[in-house]
Amino acid sequence: MSQDVSLADGFGRRFPYLRMSITDVCNFRCTYCLPDGYKKTDQDSFLTHDEIMRMARAFAGLGVWKIRLTGGEPTVRHDFLDIARGISGIAGIKHVAMTTNGYRLLERAQSYFDAGVRAINVSIDSLDPRRFHEITGHNRLPEILDGLQACLEAGFKTVKINAVLLKGQNDDALDEMIDFVMDKSFSLRFIELMRTRDNEEYFRLHHYPGEIVTQRLLEKGWQVAPRTEGAGPAMEFIHPESKGTIGLIAPYSKDFCKTCNRLRVSARGALHLCLFGEGGYSLRDYLQSDDQLEELQKKIRGLMDYKRSGHFLHQNNSGVTPHLASIGG
Ligand code: SAM
Repeated sequence: MSQDVSLADGFGRRFPYLRMSITDVCNFRCTYCLPDGYKKTDQDSFLTHDEIMRMARAFAGLGVWKIRLTGGEPTVRHDFLDIARGISGIAGIKHVAMTTNGYRLLERAQSYFDAGVRAINVSIDSLDPRRFHEITGHNRLPEILDGLQACLEAGFKTVKINAVLLKGQNDDALDEMIDFVMDKSFSLRFIELMRTRDNEEYFRLHHYPGEIVTQRLLEKGWQVAPRTEGAGPAMEFIHPESKGTIGLIAPYSKDFCKTCNRLRVSARGALHLCLFGEGGYSLRDYLQSDDQLEELQKKIRGLMDYKRSGHFLHQNNSGVTPHLASIGG
């Protein structure tokens, strides 16, 4: 009988999914994340290609089969394709995904697919070019929409659009966004705005509750899809006449953390057990040589004891994460 090596915590949750940030740098200036653009705050360098591979191998040996590359903007790294290719070749890794702002997606989609990436999430908070520009600081919506199409043509079966719900900036266009996927094979994910250390005032002004979206979807004939085994915290919706699907990530909803199935590592090699936790546990000392694999795996297993049952957002505690670019959204 094969031994179950998978990572679990004290609450019976299993963690087959790792989100790896490979840089904090982002070339967009989203109003809720890095409104003044990326500013260097830490002298430590980002993980090297070799360190990233050691991290990924260690997690793969602990039962992780899905890795998402994120950031910051992961594609600003010049070695992004090498990293994706390296990770997709690791034994046990069945699924490499990435999250991107879609910069140069049209010309790069094929290279991502060829490097082994099989699922891509593209952030598009508004389908109105002027608003998209206001939110991101970049007037690039048309080319990013073309980029989505290029992903399908490149071979991606899973193309997701991440849209953060923003009161006053896109809440009046919910129907337009929902209808956008009716005749397209995209999956739209609405994400409730999350409070982080740096966006308190913005959060107060712009947070828009996910329940209103659920209500609207049900009114428009969408149905809650049955949960699949091992699915994460997103609630999924389907519509009998729609080619696309819709998901909702609502971290402020009841029981959100019960289905947590993911761990995060920062671009400097710290393990984050929760997006809203009190910081990360540095694994960098264990990433310096291939011989350290077992030691690293033991360290990771030990840290799982510190994973708490849930976040403390409802107690007004969003942890120490300054913004999501610093930990990989
Ligand atoms: N640069 C890439 C991108 O734009 O998708 C990857 C990193 S970004 C931090 C990952 C996702 O987190 C994006 O979809 C972004 O919209 C989302 N995000 C960032 N800050 C957020 C916040 N405070 N609340 C909810 N989502 C947030």
